[in-house]
Order: sequence, then structure tokens, then C-alpha cells
Amino acid sequence: MFTDRPGRLSLTPRPEADIISRMSREVFYFRVCERGHFTYSLRQPFTDGFCQTCGAKHYTHCAKCGAQLPDRFFSPVSMGTTDPWDESAMVRPDACTKCGHVFPWAIAEQHPRAERGSPADTAEALAIVRRLCARFHVFARQLRQRHDDRSTLDIADEYDVQDAIHALLALYFDDIRPEERTPSHAGKSARTDFLLKGYNIVIEIKKTRQGLADAKLGDELIHDLARYAKLDDCKHLLCPVYDPDERIRNPEGLRKDLEARDGPPHFELFIVPQRASV
Ligand SMILES: [Zn+2]
Ligand SMILES: [Zn+2]
Repeated sequence: MFTDRPGRLSLTPRPEADIISRMSREVFYFRVCERGHFTYSLRQPFTDGFCQTCGAKHYTHCAKCGAQLPDRFFSPVSMGTTDPWDESAMVRPDACTKCGHVFPWAIAEQHPRAERGSPADTAEALAIVRRLCARFHVFARQLRQRHDDRSTLDIADEYDVQDAIHALLALYFDDIRPEERTPSHAGKSARTDFLLKGYNIVIEIKKTRQGLADAKLGDELIHDLARYAKLDDCKHLLCPVYDPDERIRNPEGLRKDLEARDGPPHFELFIVPQRASV
């Protein structure tokens, strides 16, 4: 039995509320990013505008009416930490209290992927990525056929391939995370791979060039596979290699060697355009 006041027994005890009311409360500032990540900080207002988890912008004002989102809550501090003791005080706003506008993260969570046009699961996502990779050359060739010879995105180097595939992925996926790839040699700029968050798929894009064909490419890919084996989010590594000049002499041999390696990650190599080995 819980004694509410001396000499009086309470039949509906609320020990937590009672304890909280006796502890001194502190201010916690919080922010929500555009993807819905919630972060808080004891007594320190936020000065940076970006999410520590995903890099997206903090969402501070309603996009529809401009009203400011709440930015603080109050709770006693958990002993020995900078965390709130009362977790129920931490409420993420999901809609504007002024105009009722539902915030982007709440829409994303309320509607299943399929309704938003995204693949329902990893198998479907893999099928889409495979199709994009396998047909990339057809796409690149079609891009060059502009009306009246207007200017176009010409796929000349690895960055062009990256940007074009990024744009194609955006047709199907909401959450495409660029992953900086550190260059293996000093002086080269970092390349970007794409993580399809939620599907555990990483897409690593390469384009052959002078000096980057069979042996060198195989070495690079073995190195990348080892690196991605350590990343929990990567269960499938798909690698389109754009080889329009047919520099790779033995595409089938290269593919078989690399795909025969034990995962994780499960690895698939797409040398495009597809052709028979020379
Ligand atoms: Zn975030
Ligand atoms: Zn609003």
C-alpha cells in the first residue's frame, strides 16, 4: 500500500507523478529532423541546423503556416546522466498545433511504402536496382538522342554515372544516402556510393577508363567488399560497372570470380553494356 499523506491510505496511488512533482525539473531543448529523428540536449539550445544521425535539416517551423514547433520539454534529470528521468515528457510533435499540417516524418510512418510508390521489401528493391543496372546503357544512349541536338547529360566519367543512377533511384526510393568512399590513393577525390536505407542495399558505381579494367578493377572491388562486410546496413552490395568502351576483356570471368566469394555482403556485379567475353 502506498501512503499518500501521513495518516491516510490512498487507493489509487500515483507514485511516479508524485515523485516527479517533488524532483526539480530541468529544461531539455529538442529538435526533430526532416526524417523524424528526435534529439535533445540538457539546458543547451541547439545552434546547428542539421541532424547528427542522418544529416537532414532540422525541422523547426511548420512548412504550411510557418508556426514554430515546440522546442523544449521539462523533466528531472536521471541521476548521473544528462538524460531525462521522465521519458513521457519527451513527445515528438507529429502535426502542427496551429494549422494541423502533418509533418513529413509522420506521413512517411503512417503510410506503408507501397502506397508511396516505394518497393515493399528488399526483394522488390533488388529487382528494381538490378533492372536499372542492367539497362543503364540503354538509358545513357537514349539521353544522347535530344530533340534538335540540344545539350544533354553526357555520361563521360564515373561522376556522371553516379549522378544519373542517383536520379534514377529517386524514382523509386525515398531515402537514398550518399556514402563517401575514401579514395585508395592520395590526391584522388572521394567517390560516392548509395545506401538504400531500410533495404540494406548499397550500390557502388564504377566506370572503366584507361588503366581501370580487369585486374585493377578486381582489386578495387575486393577491397570494397572487405570494407562493406563491416557495415551492418549493407547486406547486398550491387555494383554496376559502366564499360561503354569495352575495356574489360573478360567480363564473365571477373563476375564469376567476385560473385563466388563468401558473403556477407551478398555481391552482384553488372558490367554494362552486357556482352560475351572476348
Ligand atoms: Zn535525421
Ligand atoms: Zn502549421
